[in-house]
Amino acid sequence: MIFASDLDRTLIYSKKLIDHVGEDIVLVERYNGKDLSFMKRTVIDKLGTMREKIMFIPVTTRTIDQYNRIFMIKDCIKPKYAVVSNGGNILKNGEIDKDWRNIIEKKIERVIHYKFVQKRFLESFKDVSWINKMILRDKLFFSIHFNDRDKINLDELNKFKEWAEANHWNVSLQGRKLYIVPSAVNKWDAVLYIKQKERIDKVVSAGDSLLDYPILINADYSMCASHGELFKMIQDKIINKEHIVLTNSMGIDASEEIVNNVVNLSGDSSWNNI
Ligand SMILES: [Mg+2]
Repeated sequence: MIFASDLDRTLIYSKKLIDHVGEDIVLVERYNGKDLSFMKRTVIDKLGTMREKIMFIPVTTRTIDQYNRIFMIKDCIKPKYAVVSNGGNILKNGEIDKDWRNIIEKKIERVIHYKFVQKRFLESFKDVSWINKMILRDKLFFSIHFNDRDKINLDELNKFKEWAEANHWNVSLQGRKLYIVPSAVNKWDAVLYIKQKERIDKVVSAGDSLLDYPILINADYSMCASHGELFKMIQDKIINKEHIVLTNSMGIDASEEIVNNVVNLSGDSSWNNI
């Protein structure tokens, strides 16, 4: 069984999303001298001990460098695979899977070029002063950073979103970041590639944003953390919940509930086949 899970706001949480740091909530990422992200100690322990029964695959929109900063996952939990760049890259034992990268390069040749998407995005807003920076990540997709979400003109954003979706690019708004990602670069295709390579039957998934939706609708059992973008879209009936299970807890407590559910499923013989 595979446990394919998003990281940020699903298993790991930034300082502003936790109320304390202590023995139960520990630092997992440090960057430029700053303590950035935290995890529950129980979640770290369970992800470490489940490896004999379950293949844990971190599945993140983070770039390779951003993923490698999470020392607790990379150096302590040491998953065999990590899906990074929103599915654009697969790391196997820390090394880029070149076959997968070639598949991705061929797929994105068929969609509208990122330079055109960037131009269209910037032209979609009368006022772009809310944008701090727009960064092309791994030559695949954009992250747009801003401070004040209220300054985004949502009508203009929704119009751009419609245009983007019609042209096979997805838009995801998460906290103070906006992502614009070609639909060919998605988390599920990368998980499916690993699943087939490793000949593993069942996939359990977890996430909290629209970019996690592909792993949630395609996995055999899926959990959505009850906070953030995807939870709101399910509540507002913008997207179909299908078989996705919403966690009872929210915030960092949702991570513990998710991992406990995975451990329970692995005890069920019909799920435990690796
Ligand atoms: Mg997330």
